[in-house]
Parts: sequence; C-alpha cells; structure tokens
Amino acid sequence: MDGHQVRKVVIAGGGTAGWIAATALSRQLGPFLDITLVESEEIGTVGVGESTIPTTHSFHRLIGIDERDFVCATRSTFKLGILFEDWGRIGDRYIHSFGSVGRGTWMGDFQHLWLEARAQGHAGDFGAHGFEHEAARAHKFATADKAPGGRINYAYHLEASLYARYLRGLAEKAGVRRIEGKIAGVDQDPETGFIRALAMESGERVEGDLFIDCTGFRGLLIEQTLKASFEDWRHWLPTDSAIAVQTKAVGPAMPYTRAIAHRAGWQWRIPLQHRVGNGLVFASEHMSEDQAQALLRERLEGEMLTEPRLIRFKAGRRRKVWDRNCVALGLASGFIEPLESTSIHLIMIAVTRLIQSFPFGGVNEAVAARFNELSARELIGIRDFIILHYRLNQRDDGDFWPRMREIEIPDTLARRIDLFRENALAWQDAEELFRIDSWTQVMLGQRLEPKSWHRLARLMTPAQLQQALGDLRANIAKAVAAMPAHQDFLDAYCPSPIP
Ligand SMILES: Cc1cc2nc3c(=O)[nH]c(=O)nc-3n(C[C@H](O)[C@H](O)[C@H](O)COP(=O)(O)OP(=O)(O)OC[C@H]3O[C@@H](n4cnc5c(N)ncnc54)[C@H](O)[C@@H]3O)c2cc1C
Repeated sequence: MDGHQVRKVVIAGGGTAGWIAATALSRQLGPFLDITLVESEEIGTVGVGESTIPTTHSFHRLIGIDERDFVCATRSTFKLGILFEDWGRIGDRYIHSFGSVGRGTWMGDFQHLWLEARAQGHAGDFGAHGFEHEAARAHKFATADKAPGGRINYAYHLEASLYARYLRGLAEKAGVRRIEGKIAGVDQDPETGFIRALAMESGERVEGDLFIDCTGFRGLLIEQTLKASFEDWRHWLPTDSAIAVQTKAVGPAMPYTRAIAHRAGWQWRIPLQHRVGNGLVFASEHMSEDQAQALLRERLEGEMLTEPRLIRFKAGRRRKVWDRNCVALGLASGFIEPLESTSIHLIMIAVTRLIQSFPFGGVNEAVAARFNELSARELIGIRDFIILHYRLNQRDDGDFWPRMREIEIPDTLARRIDLFRENALAWQDAEELFRIDSWTQVMLGQRLEPKSWHRLARLMTPAQLQQALGDLRANIAKAVAAMPAHQDFLDAYCPSPIP
C-alpha cells in the first residue's frame, strides 16, 4: 500500500472512540478525506466511561468544541480530581487533584520543602498547598474566566451515551457519512493482508484506504482479522469485572470522582447533572458476581434508575495498535481499568497523533512503527501508575489486598517506588501522562514515607519556611473562599440543559 493515497477513511464502531475519531478527523482534515462510520445499534456500546482528565478540555479546544454547549448537552459536571477512600488503610482519604501542589525550585520539587516543614512540625496537609485540591475539598468550582487568578485545571464527568450523540451531531455536520448495520466480514488483500472493505450484513461493501477499528473489546479488525495480538497484564492488574448501575442524585454534585476501595477492588461514584454513575470493579478470583452485586446494592446511595450490568474485561495492550492499514482506538486498542479515568484520554491522544502523522501519501511501516512505539510507552506509564495504587496498600481484610502488596511489579515501577522511598524523588518521563504532582499525591496519600529528602528547605530558617508554606495555604484558602459552590456554578451555567 506504500504510495497508495489515503483519502477514504472507514471507522468501524460508533462508541466514544468512533465518534471522537470521526469528529476530530472531519473537523481538522475534512477537506482531504472522505469519512464513513459504521455502527450497529443492535450491538450497542459499552455504555460506561464517564469520568475524564484535563486533557479532554484541551482536546475539545483543539477541535473547536464550545465548552458550554458540550457541558449542557452531555449533562456534564466539572471534575477537579479523584477522592480515594480506604486505599492505604480503611478510613484513609486523600485527593489526587489536577493541577500543581505547592511550588518547588529548580533544585527540588515541592515535596522536599513540605517533608522538611513536616519534620519541623508545621507543614499542614500536603494537599492544602494545591488550589484544585482545596477547591475540590470545599466542593467549589469556577471555569478559568471566573476563577480567582484566572487559572484552574479541570476535567468533566459526562454521560457516555449523550456524549456519543453530541459528537455524532458535530461529525455528521462536518460531512461524516454514517451507516447503520452489522459488519459481517472483512475483505483483505490476499497478498498484503491490507483491509480493502467491510462487508455489511445488508450486502453493502464499505471500501476504504485506512480503517479505524473502534469496535470495542472484540477488536473486529485489529485482532479478529489482523491478529495483532494482545499482551496480557492481568498478573499485575487482576481486577477483571465491573458492575455498573445508574442512580438518582441524592445531593449536590461533587467536583470529583469517588474511588472507594472494598475488599476485592473498588467502587466508583461519578456525579452528573441529572444522575450518578456507580460501578463496582472487582477481581473475579476474589469475589463472585453475586457477592459483587450484593456489595454494590448495599453501598448505593440513591434510587436505582437502571438494572445493574456486568462487564468483563482484561488489562493489557494490543501489541500493534497500528497494523497494516488499520489503526485501533479505544477498547479495541487495549484496556487498563478505569481507576484514573484514562481511557477517553488515550483515545484523544491517539487521534491527535493520527492527525499529526496522517499518512496522506500512503500507509507505510515507518509511520505505523512510530505510532506503536509512542502508544506503548504511554500505556506502560499509565499501567505503572495504576498498579502503584494497589501496591501501596496496607489493608489486611480478605486475601485480595495482601496479594496486591506482594505481587511482583514491573521494574519500571519498582524503581520509582525505591527512589521515592529513599530520596523523595519523583519524575515524569517523555510521553508519560502523569506529572510529578500526581505521583507524589498518590505516594504520600498511600503512606509511602520517604526516608530522606533534599536539604533545600534548610537554606531557609524554620521561621521562613513556616511563613512561606503558611502564606501559600492562606492564599489558596482565600481564593477558594471566593469561588461559588460547584452545584451553584452548574445551575447558573446550564439553567436548562439541552434535551
Ligand atoms: C467498567 C468500565 C468503566 C470505564 N470507566 C471509564 C472512565 O471513567 N473514564 C474513561 O475515560 N474511560 C472509562 N472506560 C473506558 C471507556 O468506556 C471506553 O474507553 C470508551 O467507552 C470507548 O469505548 P469504545 O468506543 O472503544 O467501544 P464501545 O463503546 O464498545 O463501542 C464499540 C462500537 O463498535 C460497534 N460494533 C462492534 N461490533 C460491530 C459489528 N460487528 N458491526 C457494526 N458495529 C459493531 C458497536 O455497535 C459500538 O458502536 C471504562 C471502561 C469500562 C469497561
């Protein structure tokens, strides 16, 4: 296919991944492409995936999505981080917030100053030095134009089905052709294995130059057809099931996702404008479906709006997410459980990369290899970050948590934990999503105690250090006090959500 111009793009699947790809490609590269999306209402979508991270905000800006329009149409709320409950020990709570915590210097990051201040007996809570952290704790929110200081890092909680519908509207307006129906077969070039067309159950043939596989866990093109193969990570992440259910809201919407650990996994609570998304993630080796159902029902806060639904998954990655003339996005490309709400981000970053490296002149091995390399690095960084949460537990209830403490972890993560424990050092590699602030918030939040730290804080007198940290906390508290409650902000922002 080298040298074969790429004009016809066929997207298989219309879940979050398919419609994100369709919207971004049509809005950014529309004049050069002819885009068709195929989806089957009968098969449906996975229907979960409602918590995001701040890159969603940046991605929407890049592709020209109006924020208010999107928030109101998808009944979204704003998210400043994740509240982790019962993770270190039962009763522990910490927030992994977006944005920065404190201010370091070129010699060392903020945790070194804080650890010294704590050793001197006057540090305050680590998170109290972060604006987004404190706003989340106080249930406050304002967008950047209204936030004190004009800056705030946030993401959204969105309704998955409304989001797909909203994006579909934008994509169709930008020229994407949608075909409803089931894909019954895939026609490949007998010599190269390149995909030539999708054969629909209706008898229609959908030809293309580049195929984007967004068919979810089944990976109809990338795996069932091209056999790109799957690297299984379940030995590191044995949680493999979730039960999801929607409930009525019982109070004001919080500006954070809740991730509450239980004896064989954890539970999410995602507040939307009109309801709450709930789910219980568990390891089937440690908890049966019936036990998980019972536990979820026991822990629900509002009246159930849907029947609980079981979803099975496995952690791992597609070894090649770009194989021949097929690029896999979303669940078809691999999956890491939703603890840090990273899947929608991965779709967006992959689409961004596809746009940046779009093979107009023909698909070639070099472009695919680079795409695969970057995707793998990115996913490995996220994988390690998720394993970290399980590794750093001190729970003794049941057999799941002790197992997760003992599990042999990837070397890449073991090095990070050692360096933080010995020297309080954390870092962010190239292509890595999580910043130093994220690593430190989780490590400290889950009781990883550094034995030693940089002496930079001792270049100040104890009184100067106390004053510097105290001023920082006071400024943050003042800014947070001036913000509206998250629910009040939402009520004014979307007085009547778009139906
Ligand atoms: C339990 C759980 C919780 C999650 N929570 C989060 C979260 O909080 N945040 C986050 O970022 N991500 C989360 N995710 C991930 C998120 O749900 C997905 O990344 C996102 O929904 C994208 O899914 P998808 O579009 O790849 O697949 P799907 O939604 O499964 O869509 C697949 C599409 O392919 C079509 N299709 C399949 N086969 C055929 C066929 N033969 N013919 C025609 N069409 C076909 C289907 O009709 C559908 O349109 C979660 C995932 C799980 C499992």
